[in-house]
Amino acid sequence: MVVFECVACGAALTVPLSQVDRPDHEDVEWANTTDFTPPLLADGTYAAQGDFLVAPGDARGLSWIEDGYAGWCCGVDGSAGPNLACACGRPVAVRVDDCSRWQVVRFAPGAVRPAGSPDPVRPWEDFDWHGPSLADGDLWWQRRVEIAAGMAVARALFAADGARVTVVEGPLATVFQRALDEWQPAAGPARSLALAGPGVPGEADLLLVPRHPQTGEAWPGGAVAVSAELWRLLAHDVHPVLPRTGGQWSVELRDAALPPRPRDVVPAHWAIRRELAKLRG
Ligand SMILES: [Zn+2]
Repeated sequence: MVVFECVACGAALTVPLSQVDRPDHEDVEWANTTDFTPPLLADGTYAAQGDFLVAPGDARGLSWIEDGYAGWCCGVDGSAGPNLACACGRPVAVRVDDCSRWQVVRFAPGAVRPAGSPDPVRPWEDFDWHGPSLADGDLWWQRRVEIAAGMAVARALFAADGARVTVVEGPLATVFQRALDEWQPAAGPARSLALAGPGVPGEADLLLVPRHPQTGEAWPGGAVAVSAELWRLLAHDVHPVLPRTGGQWSVELRDAALPPRPRDVVPAHWAIRRELAKLRG
């Protein structure tokens, strides 16, 4: 595990942390609701890619920067730049926790450095690729996988380079084909899309593969890489069972009984549009 420390004074600014794949949904905002959006990352983990993301509860030794409180009614959104400083005075991070945003502390690139021994990278087969994991009360699974699926649809369309993308059968077709067809020509040259990954050899023009749960590295040969959470659903069609105790529905559904499983996964339309715009520059 590593502890992030201030580059200016060496103070430890986090608890010991293990690296995880960077979430697809980190920049997504929700409409203001009575349900606060949870932390972006689980306790004890961090994600990297220039900056370093941690759960707010895992940060240590930081103080608010005066005049850095930009935000709305329920918290800060980080739009005024760094709002957290080390005890030595150096601005090091942005905390975001307004109600519509995933709660996170983003350490700026160059402001901190990892100290200690990173966890060894586990082999792919060490992870459970067959079943979803769902902590009691985690009702955000649906939203996470629908964002990830939307971004994957966009990446498949981009990888096909103007050709139609066809999915033969199985959960991948159930989740993806309708969304693909809304965004691609009705006829013309086609490229096939299939899953590949641990235990799934896959054979198609384009392979949809998982990212490594620790490093985010794509499974070899993939044209489209998705979160392990989404890949497990597509590969094995196993939905998490929602808890009958714990957690709450959004306010308008609060009197309804919790169902035994979520509704079908539908790739988020706006995530497709946003990712395509980004990919096409
Ligand atoms: Zn410092």
